[in-house]
Parts: sequence; structure tokens; C-alpha cells
Amino acid sequence: MDLSGYSLAKISALLQKGEVTSVEVTNACLEEINKASCLNAFCWVDHDWSIEQAKQADKHLTNGSNYPLCGVPLGIKDLFCLNGVPTQAASKILEDFRPEYESTVTHKLKSQGAVFLGKTNMDEFAMGSSTEHTVYGPTINPWRKKNCAKQLTPGGSSGGSAAAVAAGLCTGALGTDTGGSIRQPASFTGIVGIKPTYGRCSRWGIVAFASSLDQAGPFARSVEDAALLLEGISGYDPKDSTSYPGEVPQFSQFLRKGVKGKTIGIPKEYRLDGMPEIIETVWQKGAKLLQDEGAQIVEISLPHTQYALPAYYIIAPAEASSNLARYDGVRYGRRAKLKSDSDIIDMYKMTRSEGFGPEVKRRVLIGTYVLSQGFYEAYYRRAQKVRTLIKQDFERVFSEGIDAILTPTTPGTAFGIGEFMNADPIQMYLNDVFTVTVNLAGLPGISVPAQLDDNGLPLGLQLIGQPWQEGELLSIAATLEGQLNFKATPEKWWKKAK
Ligand code: GLN
Repeated sequence: MDLSGYSLAKISALLQKGEVTSVEVTNACLEEINKASCLNAFCWVDHDWSIEQAKQADKHLTNGSNYPLCGVPLGIKDLFCLNGVPTQAASKILEDFRPEYESTVTHKLKSQGAVFLGKTNMDEFAMGSSTEHTVYGPTINPWRKKNCAKQLTPGGSSGGSAAAVAAGLCTGALGTDTGGSIRQPASFTGIVGIKPTYGRCSRWGIVAFASSLDQAGPFARSVEDAALLLEGISGYDPKDSTSYPGEVPQFSQFLRKGVKGKTIGIPKEYRLDGMPEIIETVWQKGAKLLQDEGAQIVEISLPHTQYALPAYYIIAPAEASSNLARYDGVRYGRRAKLKSDSDIIDMYKMTRSEGFGPEVKRRVLIGTYVLSQGFYEAYYRRAQKVRTLIKQDFERVFSEGIDAILTPTTPGTAFGIGEFMNADPIQMYLNDVFTVTVNLAGLPGISVPAQLDDNGLPLGLQLIGQPWQEGELLSIAATLEGQLNFKATPEKWWKKAK
């Protein structure tokens, strides 16, 4: 069975009707994963483990389970703790770590009968935009330029999940988004990715990067599939003090509402100098399509946008340096081999020096610096103030009647493996220019595939919604998706590549 043409909703319907079994669908996915090993999208797979889950799901289906995710095979980013399963956050420092607990969101999925195919590749501790900073080696984007065999990155940090969904290796996948790690890879791989409102999904059991920004969210091949997955992972969790206690609406019921009477803002500050023309063209096309469907399009101003990237690259490393202090060779994962005269300080130093990769070290150093006495006021405190101003920009436009904001997801299409890794790290950070604002303000944001550029690479459009209004956001995204009518899938070159 070739799954790449089937949406999650379709597979779910077939499972519910008993026309396919979860074991069949899971086997088909495992076969696709096996054939696509050169993409390096999955970093851990265990055939028997997945099939056992599928058998259980088939029992639940026979007994009348009507959870839409029952029996549906998914990929899980290596940042989520799965009980008894290797969880490494793509880092050497977590080698051999098998948590004895389960993240809340994966527990929710399990209790609905979803089947896990394995762990997906990512940038170490979710720091990166290319899935190249990883102990498993880079993930390769299933998309390539027309007539060109050069390998491209799928974006990051959730690049394994994005590549897996785009290549048809699974029906959906989980990622996390701290500054764009769901939306940017979704854009680079021609799929849908949504970052929910901060607090919508529990962070408990997810390896922390920057706790005030981190959110879990789904990757899917359609807005409807993303809505179904989001429903499955949302909800209050007493184990996460920032978890939202409100009811979770049935997001999939919003999708056919249309955009008549909605007001969509186009922020003028997102029009950057030197941005490729195609980005502007696609952005205008998206606005026009929404207008044709009855939305009102208005230009808006979010004046503090220009400070978002610098503020993010202070706040995120600051929180990371604190969160990553726990990896000391004592409690988790790997401990460096010690000399006979090593003391405990040597052990910390050697373990951390050997265990963290260069990008993580860079963030820990920056974070420690901006939090240190004498610099705290100048950097961290100031960045927090900027964060408040950015949040207020959004609050103002929403209070003036804007329902959602339309922007490009990324300032370009997928780049080559090694292209930015070997350049100045700032070049890599610039990828996040349109996505970090959303995390700083705690808002929901979704990337919808829009069109292929002249080279045949996908580009996404981002919609930013009001807090807790994922339903509205998904309904606008569904209208946009319908009008954009993006149907392209990557040519399956990897099947011949063996
Ligand atoms: N690319 C951003 C960073 O490296 C965002 C990462 C993320 O969202 N996890 O910090």
C-alpha cells in the first residue's frame, strides 16, 4: 500500500470502517521508512514494538474505539520522552538514556490508540534550523531542485518529522517549536505544521530547550489532519504549571467556516530588504485568495518586529543554559571516562565538553554570559522588555479587529546541506525572522504549503492567530489551503537511490 497519497483523515476512516487494519498500515509505513533510510528522517525504529502497538489498536478498533487517531502510525521527535525508549534529543550527552516516564502528549496519543513508528531526527536539543546539528547525521529533505541531485536540508529543528511526513513515511508526526522548529521545516518540505498557543499542549516529559517558548505541535499533509492531531495532544495537565485549564474545542469542526467577514492583517515590517521576489509574490497571492473568499485584507504595523530576532537569541540561550545545567554526567545519559585523579568538577567538565555539540555549547556560553552579574540588566532584562513590547504589538492589532495575520513562513526555500552550517551562525539564525515573534508572544501559528518556486521547491505561508483561537486559525488556514490548492509531492528519488 502506498500511503503517500492518503491523508490521516482518510486512513482513520478506513481503519474505523475496518477496510484496513492498523497492522497493515503500520507495516506499510515501516517498509517506506526502510526504503527511505538515506533520508535519515528516523533515528530509532523498532519494528516489533510498533507492530505490537498496532495489534493493540486493532483490538480497540474491533471493540468500537472511535478515536480518530486509533491505529494511526506517527513519527515522534527525539525530544519527547517515551517510557523505556531511547530519548537522546539528538545529543551525545543523552546516549543510552531511556526515560522511565512518558511525556503527557505522547501518553495522550497512546491512550487514544495511536501507533508510534519511532523517533525522528532533529537538531541537538532542538537548537538549529537545518537538522544538521545532530549526533545521528543530517536529515535529507525529500525535495530537490529540478534536475539537480544536490542534497537539501529539511529545515529544523524538527526536520526528521517534517521529512518523514513529506516523504509519506508516516501519516503525521510530532515536533516542537521554540522559535519556528515546526513551521520552518513544514514550509521547507511542503506540508502543514502548527505551533499552538503557549500552554495549549503540556510540556511535561519533553526535553526542555527554552521553557517559556517551547510548545509541541503536529506535522501533517493537510490542515484537517493537523486539526485532528492537535485535538489529540491538547489539554490541561496539572504536571505543567503553564498548562491552560480551558476546554479544548473540537478543532476539526471549524474547518468549513470560511473567511467571510474576517479581517486579515498584513504586517508591513515583515517585508524585508533583499527578500527574494517569489516570497513577496506568494505572500500577495495568499492575501488575494483570502480576499476573493470574502476576507478583508488590511495593512498593519507591528513596529517592534525588528528586535524580535535579537531578543529571541538572548532569551532562548539564557533559558537553555539554565535547563541544560542538569546534564552533568550524574543523573542522565553519558558520563565521560575519568582519570584516576579526576574529581567531581573534572567529571562535570569532561562530560559536558564531550557530550554537547558545538551549537549547544555556543548557546550555553551565550546564555551564561547574558545572565551573568553585570550583564543581566543590559541583555536579559532588556530582551524581556522587548518581548513585552512585541506581545503588545500583537495585542493592539487584535484588539483593533484583526482576526489573523498573514506572513511568509521563511525568507527563502530549503538550502543545501552544509550551506549555512559552514557560514556564520547568524546566517542560520536569520531563517527564524518570521517565526520567533510568534513564540515570544505565545501565539498560535500555522504554516500552510503555498506553491513551488522556479526551482521546484515548496514555500509556505504563515497565519498567526489570537491566543486560544486555534479553531479560527485552522478555519482560515483551511480556506487558504483550499484556494492555494497545493498538491505537489516530492519525486521519490530515494527509492532508486539504494
Ligand atoms: N531555529 C531556532 C533556534 O535554533 C528555533 C529552534 C526551535 O524552534 N526549536 O533556536
